Amino acid sequence: MAELRLDPFTRRWVVTGKRPVMPDVHDESGGCPFCPGNEHMTPHSIREYKNSDGTWMARVFHDRAPLFLVEGGLDRQPEGMYDRMNTVGAHEIVVETPVHGLTLAHLPADHIAHLLELFRDRILDLKQDRRLRYVSLFKDQHPPTATLEGHAYSQVLGSPVLPQLLEIEFRWSQAHFKRHDRCIYCDALQQELQEDVRVVDQTEDFVAFCPFGSRWSYELWVGPVRHSSSFENDMTEPGRAAAFAPFLKSCLMRMEKVSPSLHVVVHTEPNLLAWKPTKDWWSSIRDDYHWHLEIQPDVAGKRRFLGTEGFHFNPIPAEQAALVLRAFDPGRELYSKS
Ligand SMILES: [Zn+2]
Ligand SMILES: [Zn+2]
Ligand SMILES: [Zn+2]
Repeated sequence: MAELRLDPFTRRWVVTGKRPVMPDVHDESGGCPFCPGNEHMTPHSIREYKNSDGTWMARVFHDRAPLFLVEGGLDRQPEGMYDRMNTVGAHEIVVETPVHGLTLAHLPADHIAHLLELFRDRILDLKQDRRLRYVSLFKDQHPPTATLEGHAYSQVLGSPVLPQLLEIEFRWSQAHFKRHDRCIYCDALQQELQEDVRVVDQTEDFVAFCPFGSRWSYELWVGPVRHSSSFENDMTEPGRAAAFAPFLKSCLMRMEKVSPSLHVVVHTEPNLLAWKPTKDWWSSIRDDYHWHLEIQPDVAGKRRFLGTEGFHFNPIPAEQAALVLRAFDPGRELYSKS
């Protein structure tokens, strides 16, 4: 049985051990378990977004071998100087379309808007669980094949601990806010829009840019122009999902021109309802933090670490990547840049 262990030297959590297989999975026929007609090969739906004729357009279910499980207590235990706990949480799969081989970028904008609302609802629902400190939303997209690798889906992970990278972002955002009384992302966006050398696309509401310290070639960050710490709360406001969907679609179309393999992840605030280790646990996060979506294309031979210590080598600086990404026509009229 898998468990969560804390590496005390880096404060990094690791899930170690065998992942349990869900009892309602019957994977005997081969083929793609995410295609319509093969629903019996996956756990039952938790949520569905349906067409007017009653057929599903997107469906959510527990992962067939979840990393985190809803049942049970945390049972956090010390072992000498070490820490371990049960893998309590949630691990859900969102199949984004009934059509095999279509990527998120190629779905109609109104369908993407429905998906954004579905993602929002899953995050808000899981954040009602006070055992969970964070809910991750991400996708790993690979070139289409006949297997599930070729069927568009995302993953939702509710965890009782903060992912290390998010904790680092929260800490540095908090430090910047303490020093300057301003959100670090709002400051960066202001500079990016002024300098206009790393911005790839923008609307009145959203902006996409290659971050100054891009770790991956053609890495793109997409986020709201106005300050908001929470993707799920932002997408709750009327019209926001409908406004974000065509912009996200166009960003993904651009990125697919660089590589068909993409890692897409939403970075949002932690669960503020969660049990708190200290009274002021992330109490200023709504001022400090600014949600964003990170897109990392897997460009052959360019997604490299130097060693395994997290030191990155990216041969294409952000300004150069932005020039290339701007020049692509994602299939709609771009605002003109001089
Ligand atoms: Zn399929
Ligand atoms: Zn901000
Ligand atoms: Zn981030």
